[in-house]
Amino acid sequence: MAGNIAIVPGDGIGKEVMKQAVKVLETLETDYALDVDYDVFDWSSDYYVQHGRMLPEDGLETLKNYDAILFGAIGDNRVPDDVTVWELIMPIRKTFEQYVNFRPVKQLQGINSPLDHSQNKKIDFVILRENSEGEYSDSGGLMFQGQEKEMAIQNSIFTKQGIKNIAEFAFDYARKHHYSKVTSATKSNAITHTMKFWDKEVGKIAESHSDIEYEKVYVDALAAKFVQQPEEFQVVLASNLFGDILSDLGSAVAGGLGISPSANINPSGEFPSMFEPVHGSAPDISGKGLANPIAQIWSLALLLEHIGRKDLHDHILRAIEQLLSDKSKVTKDIGGSASTDEAGDALVKILRENKVGIT
Ligand code: ATP
Repeated sequence: MAGNIAIVPGDGIGKEVMKQAVKVLETLETDYALDVDYDVFDWSSDYYVQHGRMLPEDGLETLKNYDAILFGAIGDNRVPDDVTVWELIMPIRKTFEQYVNFRPVKQLQGINSPLDHSQNKKIDFVILRENSEGEYSDSGGLMFQGQEKEMAIQNSIFTKQGIKNIAEFAFDYARKHHYSKVTSATKSNAITHTMKFWDKEVGKIAESHSDIEYEKVYVDALAAKFVQQPEEFQVVLASNLFGDILSDLGSAVAGGLGISPSANINPSGEFPSMFEPVHGSAPDISGKGLANPIAQIWSLALLLEHIGRKDLHDHILRAIEQLLSDKSKVTKDIGGSASTDEAGDALVKILRENKVGIT
């Protein structure tokens, strides 16, 4: 068996796009002899409203037994965002040491980028974001609340080990995937303690990978370059906050949230990794059949690659590109007229008709 998968659709459009990903998974099982087991968990804001928590007490123990997690999206106006994030997503990322957040930024054939010049320039790079520490910590607090001198402190936590882990992953990833350059996002000219430390530690790892070119670029300039020269990038390495922002920019440059996937990776393989679209639960379009399922299905493809089926990953991507060639088969956000279900069904049809090269 290739593996067992835990599926958590979550809230809003998460449920709608996951339905399409499950259709694809079932097609791969019936038509491509993919041998996986999967279970679906209803942990979500609905679950919170009923049980007062986002997942059962032994939820993480349960997930630990899976090879990988396919996640939809979370967020609902009945539950504060910090509850959904810090009681479901963050515990999964932290407990399972998913310290790498991987986001491909690739302009698929058939997708128009908002950048005019993009037709002649290839947008195809990956962002590797530190996913467990940095600027996203719950260390800090408020003082003098309600008074004129009220203040807030939010600490950033950068550890030598944390930086080493993500930087090594980035250079190893570059080498393994035949990339020649790693670009590190920094801001050590203004954030003089943590970012100088980041530069120093990343620099050490770069020295021990001298076959890969290394550059550090201030994150503000990097953001501009994402728009003006996106073809310059291969592997972009960033801290938690910078990576978060750059990823959304990368996703916008490559065609939008509806198609952008991501992976939260536990590189040691000791715990499951988690695959999810970059987008959230998008309450504004939920229940209207408008959600684009491609980001979720591409996330499934990344998951399959992770559990050893790169052939199926590549095949799904080719099928997505074929889908994109017919605007009547894709959703409105990328210029089409199909509903979420219709887009999912059309992709399944392509997969059924197009088994060439897959055993
Ligand atoms: P978050 O959960 O990140 O706080 P959100 O759930 O409100 O945010 P995002 O996922 O950031 O929303 O998406 C922003 C907007 O982009 C959505 O409100 C929606 O209009 C659009 N969008 C996001 N995902 C999709 C999708 N899969 N298909 C079509 N439109 C989408």
